[in-house]
Order: sequence, then C-alpha cells, then structure tokens
Amino acid sequence: MNAILEGREVWFVTGSQGLYGPEVLDQVADGSKRIVAWLDEAGLPLPVVWKPTLTSKDAIHSLVLEANRDPNCVGLIAWMHTFSPAKMWIAGLDALQKPLLHLHTQVNVELPWDTIDMDFMNLNQAAHGDREFASIETRLGVARKTVVGHATDPAATAQVATWMRAAAARADARTGVLVRFGDNMRNVAVTEGDKVEAELVWGTSVTYYGVNDLVAAVDAVPDSEAEWLAGQYEELYQVVPELRRGGERHASLVYGAKQEIGLRSFLEPLGATAFTTNFEDLGGLRQLPGLAVQRLMASGYGFGAEGDWKTALLVRAAKVMGEGLPGGASLMEDYTYHLTPGEERILGAHMLEVCPTLSSVQPKLEIHPLGIGNREDPVRLVFNTDPGPAVVVAMTDIRDRFRLTANTVTVVPPDAPMPNLPVGSAVWVPDPDFATSAACWLAAGAAHHTVMSTAVGAEAFEDYARMAGTEFALITRGTTAREFAKELAWNQAYYRLARGL
Ligand code: MN
Repeated sequence: MNAILEGREVWFVTGSQGLYGPEVLDQVADGSKRIVAWLDEAGLPLPVVWKPTLTSKDAIHSLVLEANRDPNCVGLIAWMHTFSPAKMWIAGLDALQKPLLHLHTQVNVELPWDTIDMDFMNLNQAAHGDREFASIETRLGVARKTVVGHATDPAATAQVATWMRAAAARADARTGVLVRFGDNMRNVAVTEGDKVEAELVWGTSVTYYGVNDLVAAVDAVPDSEAEWLAGQYEELYQVVPELRRGGERHASLVYGAKQEIGLRSFLEPLGATAFTTNFEDLGGLRQLPGLAVQRLMASGYGFGAEGDWKTALLVRAAKVMGEGLPGGASLMEDYTYHLTPGEERILGAHMLEVCPTLSSVQPKLEIHPLGIGNREDPVRLVFNTDPGPAVVVAMTDIRDRFRLTANTVTVVPPDAPMPNLPVGSAVWVPDPDFATSAACWLAAGAAHHTVMSTAVGAEAFEDYARMAGTEFALITRGTTAREFAKELAWNQAYYRLARGL
C-alpha cells in the first residue's frame, strides 16, 4: 500500500511551429529543457518528462494518444514557447483523456532591455502563444488548471505540485477497487448513491462482498501471527495494561490483530484501494473493526463507515494526494458542538474509525464498551488531532451529479482534556466562522461524513474535482452564505447544461 506515487510521471509538452526554421526550434528545445530542469529542482512529487517540441497536428495527436495509453503518465503540462497556431491542437486536445495543466511561463525572468531585438521577440512569445493556445482550450471546453509564473517561482511550482498530486489520485482512482462489506446503513440517505455513475465519474469499481467472506479470512489467521502483531502494537502504541500480553483482556487485542491480518489478506489479492464496513451487518465478526480499520487507513486504504463508499473514495484520494507530506487523512464526522458565542468549535470523531495519521503523538490503544453493533467490546486507538490548518470534504450524490463540498478549517487543541472520550478526535474552528460554515454546509446538502486532510488543502480537492468534471463548492475565508447560495443555484443549472442530454 505504500509508495502510491512511485512510478508515476507527468509529461512536459512544448508547442511551436515549423515557420521559424531549425535554428530557432533548437533554441525552443533548449528553452523547454531549462523549464523542465527548473521544475525538477523545485522538489515536485513526480518527475517531469521532457518531450520533443510539437509543431504539427499529427505529432500533437499521436503524442496525446501515447499519453492516453501510458499507465505511468498521469497528466500533461503544456506550454507554448513561441506562437503555435492552435488549430493544429484541436484533434489532440479533443482526444486527450489525461489531466492537463497549462503552464503560462517563459524562459527569461527579466526583459533584456539593452539587447532585446526581433530575434529575441520571435523566440520568447509565450505571452501571446499561450493566449492562442488557451483560446482553443476554452473553445473546446478542455478542463485544465492554469498556472502562471516563472518555473523558479515557488508560488507557481507549489500549484504544479498540488495538481500532480491530484493527477496521481485521478490515475489511482481509475484503476481502483472499493470493497463494500455489506450494504450501507439502513434508511440513511446521504450514504446512498449511484455506484454505476461513480465508476464513470471517478473510475473506481464499487463492489460488494458478504461480511462472512471477511469473517472466514479473519478466522483463518493463525494465533501465532496475531500474537506477533499484538506484540508490535505494544511497541508502537501506549497499550493499556489489560490488553498487554498477560493482561486479562489480551485476547480482545489478539482478535483485533486477526481482524487486521484478515482484512489485509482479503483486500490485497483483489487490488482493493478502499473499503467500507457496516455495524448493522457484522455477521460472525466478534468486534466492530476499530483498530484494524485505523491501521489500514494509516497504511493508505480509503475507508467509510456505515457502508459510506463515497467518503471511502475521498479518503483514498486524500491518501494518494498526501503521500510523503506531513499530516494525514481520515474519515471524520461532525459529531457535536461547543457553542459558546464567539468561541464555537466543532468536535469531530467517529464511533471508532479515525485514522491516527492525524496525530504525531503516540496514540493510546484501549478497549471500551460500544453500545452499537451488539458485539464484544472493540479495541481502538485514542488520540487528539494535531493543531493546524486542515480541510474537510464531503461527497454527496445530488441525483444528476456528485458534489464535493469543502471547508477550510483550523484544528485547535481541546479547551480541556477529555479523559472519558474513548476515540480519536479532532477539535476545529471552521472558516469563515462557525455560523456561516454550518449554514453553507447545510445549504449544500453536504454529508456528516467527510475526509479530513491535514496533509493537502482545498486546492488539491478542487483540482481533483475538475479532473472528474464534477462540482466543487468551497466554504472558506471570505465566503458569505448569500453568495454561496447563489453559486449553488448557478451550479445547478451549469452542470445540467454542461452534461448535455
Ligand atoms: Mn458515521
């Protein structure tokens, strides 16, 4: 499950035209290689592969087909060093199935005031060459991210890096498999959705297995293997004495370890990238999986509780996008509020399944009763999320499309210790303020389940939604409830029209 980004790359394509002759085209090639070298020096998450300059319709079209076919190529970065008449880009852009970033840049930072002549002007024409290219992108309705700035400017390269992470998540989702153990929780609306449409929009196959298939895998785990893993837990976490080897409830921890090993042995051969469970449908499982789910999320799996496959897709995307960055990502649920005027906070948690990558402090491994699910007491990791910036994102199925609703938030320390809270949790202050955030969230019909990411921000999810051609509604600093309501209304019309009949 680790090294999700490994082996992936993006291609750098430069546009020009034959009009200038071979000498100028040699300089164009040199210039575009310098851009690629600067991008590589910026410490981007994926390698940038330089491609020969494109000067004809056929060359552009065949490069796009090659990019579509290449499983390692997750997207294209395009830039027009000179003017590149854009009608020759029509067939290629129309065929493009990979994410596109238009980098609006040039080789030189400063104008060479005292030496500038027409040769320099002809060679360095991105200022209008990129405008010609953008006109055809817009005319064709090509979804892309536009980044403006010199390739040595950290503000520009940070946007490229974020887009790369989203493109990797897009590639991952298009080959992903999500395993649902059982259906979603009875009568719940927001965890429902169109699984056929999901495979078209996101790419992931959302499939089903009976929970007793998992039970068989858990029961098949040898005691010795589970004991070994339980020993690992004692090294990794602050395990309460009753669960340690020799403790009176050690058997519950060993069963938790069997759930982890059983889940991994079930999911790995299927190539699964995400999964769901449902406490109403536990079959022969003796505990609701808590620790096991937390451990699988920490190793990169997407997860949704109560059969919430849409949130599981988002958690997986966040795992891919955040790989190698500080922070983490988890299933989260808006649980309860601190409503003191002017000091409002949201306490987020779940009944068990919050991912410990949200905390840099060693979690506690505990056992407590759980009223729901009607099984034995489950083992779970308990921790507080690290303070700092974060984003929460929900996916809702609003009949004719999926909407991602995001809210930028600040995770804060709890006002006081919560010694009786037996789960991983996060306390946050939402942007722009509590009342506006909640009013907008409710107006969007956004879910109570979210992915919380402390590794990547809202921009990554915005890029990801654009790649899927679906709606992204952001609640952040400066958002007002009135303008947000208008945006939702406009989107309602736009996405219906954009989709066609
Ligand atoms: Mn829930």
